[in-house]
Amino acid sequence: MTEAVLLTPGPLTTEAAVKAAMQVDWGSWDGAFNELTASVCRDLIAIVRAEPDHVCVPLQGSGTFAVEAALGTLVPRGGKVLVPDNGAYCKRIARILGYLGREAVVMPFAEHEAVSPGRIDAALAGDPAITHVALVHCETSTGILNPLTDIGAVVAAHGRRLIIDAMSSFGALPIDARVLAFDALIAASGKCLEGVPGMGFVIARRDALEGSAGQAHSLSLDLADQWQYLRKTGQWRFTPPTHVVAALRTAIDRYHAQGGREARLARYTKNCAALQDGMRALGFASFLPSALQAPIIVTFHSPPDPAYDFGSFYRRVRERGFILYPGKLTQVETFRVGCIGAIDSATLRRAVAAIGATVREMGIQRMAPR
Ligand SMILES: *Cc1c(COP(=O)(O)O)cnc(C)c1O
Repeated sequence: MTEAVLLTPGPLTTEAAVKAAMQVDWGSWDGAFNELTASVCRDLIAIVRAEPDHVCVPLQGSGTFAVEAALGTLVPRGGKVLVPDNGAYCKRIARILGYLGREAVVMPFAEHEAVSPGRIDAALAGDPAITHVALVHCETSTGILNPLTDIGAVVAAHGRRLIIDAMSSFGALPIDARVLAFDALIAASGKCLEGVPGMGFVIARRDALEGSAGQAHSLSLDLADQWQYLRKTGQWRFTPPTHVVAALRTAIDRYHAQGGREARLARYTKNCAALQDGMRALGFASFLPSALQAPIIVTFHSPPDPAYDFGSFYRRVRERGFILYPGKLTQVETFRVGCIGAIDSATLRRAVAAIGATVREMGIQRMAPR
């Protein structure tokens, strides 16, 4: 298999050193592995400056497992969760709450519209039974950025609890627990930290987590139990994804060596600009206005030309060495290109060239809806 560059928001392109870190087999109860887990958790907490009041609970599985664990553990059975919805990952949260039997109030927004703090303010003022707000920071289905700081202030002013799906923003976009109150901040190994997929984690407020013992609907997704066991033994409950943790350790070392969060955001911002400029020059139209666009993943309108079809477009770009991502919108035909991973703006310019060659090869003329 020729190795292609993944322009997908997880799994994504990783550095050779990250892949090499998986060449060692670790014993799950071995002291060296426990220290590896502890050091990764310390660093994850420090990235969002949450050392004083929060703990990091790692969890086996993809990011959704960690989202489900956080909701199932921290929202009591009588809780009521406001879910602002401007995309597929918001809808997934509402769906999870349905499975958990936790009451959800979905607040719909258009997919090209950021969540409005004012509307959340009104909803919380109007419904004192709402206990939690579950917010997706960067809605990866479009790449839209929701105003986390303003929403956090509204939620705190009403004395309600905030649960944040920061899966595709953690490590790149600014999040600072010293100025943002949250009960849970959820992310995973294989996104902006540029590790491999397989491990989620929740930065949870210690007193909220400790107060939630016995609340979870599920043994394997009980974060309070996972935390108590980790605290007592230094070990994960149940088999840990040892190679994933080792790869994440190296990925975080590389993250710090490259200048940490600011440097990562700067690289992704350049990647995103190179991608958008190049695609615009080819005639493609972005789905989002640039003011709402996070430098994580960009959604483009599919060319409304009979010569275009995503399957064939994808295969031809793949043959040129780049893996694109299908769209995830309900109303309009789109495809997505990720800006994250161990790639730089030169990679994105080569990807744009591959897309341009594919467009010419397929004879696509009409590039954008009007
Ligand atoms: C990737 C992602 C998730 C988790 O998806 P998995 O496929 O379970 O890893 C959740 N929320 C957002 C916003 C994401 O980008």
